[in-house]
This record gives sequence, structure tokens and C-alpha cells, in this order.
Amino acid sequence: MNTYARQSVAFVRGEGSHVFDEAGRRYLDALAGIAVNTLGHGHPSLTKALAEQVARLMHVSNIYRVPEQERLSDRLAALSGMDEVFFCNSGCEANEAAIKLARMYGHQQGVDTPAIIVMEKAFHGRTLATLSATGNRKVQAGFEPLVSGFVRVPFDDLSAIEHVAANNPNVVAVLFEPIQGEGGINIAHDDYMRSLRRICDEKGWLFMVDEVQCGIGRTGAWFAHQRAGIKPDVMTLAKGLGSGVPIGACLAAGRAAGVFKPGNHGSTFGGNPLACVAALTTLEVIERDGLMARAVHVGDLIRKRMGEALAGVAGVVDIRGDGLMIGIELDRPCGELVGQALEAGLLINVTNDNVVRLLPPLVFTDADAEQLVALLAPPIRDFLGA
Ligand SMILES: *Cc1c(COP(=O)(O)O)cnc(C)c1O
Repeated sequence: MNTYARQSVAFVRGEGSHVFDEAGRRYLDALAGIAVNTLGHGHPSLTKALAEQVARLMHVSNIYRVPEQERLSDRLAALSGMDEVFFCNSGCEANEAAIKLARMYGHQQGVDTPAIIVMEKAFHGRTLATLSATGNRKVQAGFEPLVSGFVRVPFDDLSAIEHVAANNPNVVAVLFEPIQGEGGINIAHDDYMRSLRRICDEKGWLFMVDEVQCGIGRTGAWFAHQRAGIKPDVMTLAKGLGSGVPIGACLAAGRAAGVFKPGNHGSTFGGNPLACVAALTTLEVIERDGLMARAVHVGDLIRKRMGEALAGVAGVVDIRGDGLMIGIELDRPCGELVGQALEAGLLINVTNDNVVRLLPPLVFTDADAEQLVALLAPPIRDFLGA
């Protein structure tokens, strides 16, 4: 189906931070398959672990115990402080699980029509429930009637939350991205997250974070909310968790733990041995190779160098981000920069119409960062007529 406006290039091979097209041309990958290829391309540790697991056992069904899934649950629980994990295959599925969990939690509290607070500019996926939770009309248009039970507020705005808290007795949860990805790299303030956590505790709401894009070490912490020193009740993961092997997860703690019982939710593929080994290896290599510190260092370097290269250029509104989640906001729609960067041998993306988005793999080197700036600054300058 014609669901993607694709670039015509096709890649056939990758190595570290680079991919190669059919003609053998090399490209610097500053997108990582939209925050998916955490370990870059062809990482030897991941390749070896996956090859061994493919030969040993790929899939059995959740009808049986899956030891790799148990090990991954323990690892994720240790890194996050969460109590329980449900495995699926994608970000939207992880959020579907979170939304179902919040509704069931609400019913258990005696709320017959539970509602979830969601944010403007949010992105939670493209299933019916998750596109309804998404704060972008383009994603929703044509798919009405939307799933009900969402209350939308401006992002990073505490007074809007307080207003809903005072007026809507049906609210049972808040779902938000600590850093909005598709919405244009918008960062929730630490104070906001801490205050929201407090309100959730006072009201008995579930504090649910969508870390599908910002999680898994990308911002220098395992999970982006951790910089605020808080713990969520529900957290969703996907994208970077398997470094390219599809896997999603919905984690629960405290009040949200124990809500689902056998039969309430499930997945055929979710958490199969292959996907779990991909995730276990990803987490292991991030830790072993110090990739979170690298994400902070290289992210700072990219922002600093881009700032220098674009200094005084009219039309550059902001260069922002956290670790290797970076947005360069321009004063006008700039989708055509994607093709121009590709021509220059660089993979990037534009989101929210006017934000150049960089999501490099966590193995990005200082030299990759310098090359990125050398390849990206000239087309941006040209585009802005500087
Ligand atoms: C990409 C994304 C999703 C959806 O993930 P899929 O795997 O495409 O379903 C959900 N939430 C956030 C924050 C995302 O960035």
C-alpha cells in the first residue's frame, strides 16, 4: 500500500554509523532508522548473539516459560525500578497495553468511563487507540470516530493539569513523552515531571511515560524521565530496545502492578527468544562500552558545532535536545532538506514540518559528529539563503 512517501534510495549493507546503497555509495546515518539502531549497523556483539540464538531457538509461544524473556524482564526491572513487564513488538502495541492497563485500573477503582490525560503534539502510534491519544490532526484525519477517553492538555504546562485535576473526576492516568520526538524534540522540564508525579500520587492517577523514542540510553540515562529523579507507574519502550529487531515493552510498578491477570492481554510474537536476546545484548553493550556517556558527549559536541556552523544565520530558531536526541528548529517548513542531505551522503529527518531531527546511533564517534556538521550545515545555510 502507498503508506510512505519514500526516498528512492535503497540500502543494502551497514557498518557502524554508515550504510551503503546499491551502487556502493556510503552515507552517514544520523537517524538510525528513527532511533532504532542503537548499536549502529552490523555490530559484532549483536550479530554474534543473534546468529547463535537463530540457530538455537527463535520462537516458542507465550504458552510456555521463556527464560530469555525472564532475564530481560529482570534486567529492565533493575534498570528502571519497575516491577512487571509485558512484551510486544512495537511502540504502538506498548502504548495499547498501557492504555488498556489504565482503563482496567480505572474500572478497578470504580470509574466506569476512565479518561487518560494526553498532550498536544504527542505521538503514541497509529493504531486506533494510539492515534486517538496522539496530538496531531494529520495522524487522526479520516479515521474518525476516534477512541474516546482522552483529555488533551498543552505539553509541559502544569496549570493545565491542575485545571483537569479540579474538574474531571474520570481521569485515571496521564500519558506523555518526557521528550516529544515526532512533535519536534520538545523537552519536559524536570520540575514539571516532579509536580506531575506529585499530582498523580494525590489523585491516585497512573503516571505513564512513553519512552519509545527517548529511552534506552539515548539521553545519557537509561530512561529520559530518570533525570527528574522520579519513577513512573507505567513506562513504554520499543524503537531502540532491540537495535533493529522488533520488540516493545510495557512496564508497570506500584499501583499499576498486578492490574492485568491471565487472559486480559497478550501477544503471539511478543517477547520471543530472538527479540529478547537482541534487547539483552543491546543493554549489555550500552553498559559495557559506556554508550550513555558517549551519547551525552557526542550530543553536546553536535549541538556545539552546529551552533558554531549556523551562528548568525537568520531562520535558525533553536538548536536543542538531550544527548543524541537533537532538533534544529527553522522558521519555515524544511522537508526538502531530507533529500538535500541524502544527496550530500547524510541520513536525517524533518519532523513537525520545521524541525531537522537527528537521532544517531549510540556508537556515533566524535569524527562522525564532525562529519555530520560538515555535511548538514551547508544545505541548511543554502536553504535559508545564508
Ligand atoms: C515511534 C513512536 C511510537 C510508535 O512506535 P511504532 O513502533 O511505530 O508503533 C510511539 N511513541 C513514540 C514516542 C514514538 O516515537
